[in-house]
Amino acid sequence: MTTLVSVGYIVAFVLFIYGLMGMTGPRTAVRGNWIAAAGMTVAVVATLLQPGMGNWLLIALGLGIGAVIGVPAARRVKMTAMPQMVALFNGVGGGAVALIAWVEFRVTTGYEAEPLYVAIASLFAAIVGSVSFWGSGVAFGKLQELLPGRPVTLGRLQQPLNIVLLAAALACAVIIAAGGRSEWLIIGVLVAAGLIGVMVVLPIGGADMPVVISLLNAFTGLSAAAMGLALDNTALIVAGMIVGASGSILTNLMAQAMNRSIPAILAGGFGSGGGGGAVAAGGGGDRPVRSTSAADAAIQLAYAGRVMVVPGYGLAVAQAQHAVREMADLLEAKGIDVAYAVHPVAGRMPGHMNVLLAEADVPYESLKEMDESNSAFPQVDVSLVIGANDVTNPAAQSDPNSPIYGMPILHVTSSRSVIVLKRSMGSGFAGIDNALFTDPKTAMLFGDAKESVGGIVEELKSL
Ligand code: NAP
Repeated sequence: MTTLVSVGYIVAFVLFIYGLMGMTGPRTAVRGNWIAAAGMTVAVVATLLQPGMGNWLLIALGLGIGAVIGVPAARRVKMTAMPQMVALFNGVGGGAVALIAWVEFRVTTGYEAEPLYVAIASLFAAIVGSVSFWGSGVAFGKLQELLPGRPVTLGRLQQPLNIVLLAAALACAVIIAAGGRSEWLIIGVLVAAGLIGVMVVLPIGGADMPVVISLLNAFTGLSAAAMGLALDNTALIVAGMIVGASGSILTNLMAQAMNRSIPAILAGGFGSGGGGGAVAAGGGGDRPVRSTSAADAAIQLAYAGRVMVVPGYGLAVAQAQHAVREMADLLEAKGIDVAYAVHPVAGRMPGHMNVLLAEADVPYESLKEMDESNSAFPQVDVSLVIGANDVTNPAAQSDPNSPIYGMPILHVTSSRSVIVLKRSMGSGFAGIDNALFTDPKTAMLFGDAKESVGGIVEELKSL
């Protein structure tokens, strides 16, 4: 049986890694996800085949409850709510690890007859898993607008309180590792670590939340790997390390694309947590705003040779991707070249725009990465900015006082003309003005992106 379990685990690892390779491109991502899910099924079955598996009724109940909650939630979730969904699922993983550490403490009476490394690995897993569970819960609450999206801080008390909590968690852990048997000690570890998770995530603004979620995801992976070490379970070690490593790489890539350091993100205080409330930072001053109509935009597009669509978060909110595809088809039928400039942090999660556009069957070859798009803009007749804001904001290059200063942007103003589709002059997620909207090259087409693009489509059909 042990050999069968080991073979099952090896098959699972191969499927995990093969599945992960599929995630490198939108075409193979869905298949990659299925392969990784199959790997997880094999790993769960192999674990259940282990000798001495306990109460089957409880196991069936757990699987049943998980499936009844998880499957409909994952099926119904909107693309724009995916970051908070990931936060929730990831947090549950961290919470499970923390609970296993607690159970192990009870089963082994405070790791009494266990080697020291088992106690250390379990306590590490308890601390990091609990931080991840409660931190992810707060991230979910912020993105779901159950908690304020703006940074919530205790001011100067914040850091001392975090240090006291960390000291309390570590003190309880050290006493346990030194032979402490009281169950209150492990409860102390879990509560102090949970409070650290809450206190670290509360001061972080909504704009940084996807990065924090990815970081907590990496934490969950590390805690699972540590628990695997304590339980001598290879599946947990390998799966945990894969999650830990990929989460760390993703966190780093996101932080780089936003030109933010991870310590700066954790220090908090950035991001308004939603649109509106524009702060004048590198804004357009008193320059007039030129607005346009769907009819005029359609004529401008119909007479262009090259059009670059610049999608952003608003495209996802409006679910305008199918209308955009229809518009592109009409333009292409007129011999116009249409491409899409995709910024790495457009939207609210990495790959957000790629997934949306793939959903509307936009050919993958038409999607241009940031560098390629920026080289192409000077040859573009019309840049059609649909619900994108921060990723086009020139303040990121020109205003050292801007909170997004240094973030690479799409240089839409290098093109001959720009049409921006959004509902108002409101700000994007960073909460700052955008001088693009008052640039003499820019015309604003106000309204919901789906309705505006629909209007352009109708006009194009009648031309
Ligand atoms: P953005 O700066 O958040 O702006 C989105 C714009 O969409 C808003 O200004 C809003 O303006 C407009 N909008 C909202 N609903 C709309 C609708 N129904 N129809 C038309 N327009 C609508 O978006 P972005 O340019 O994509 O930038 C992404 C931001 O998220 C960046 O600050 C980035 O750093 C941050 N972020 C992204 C990631 C990631 O992984 N992608 C991770 C962390 C942070 P109106 O209200 O006027 O319509």
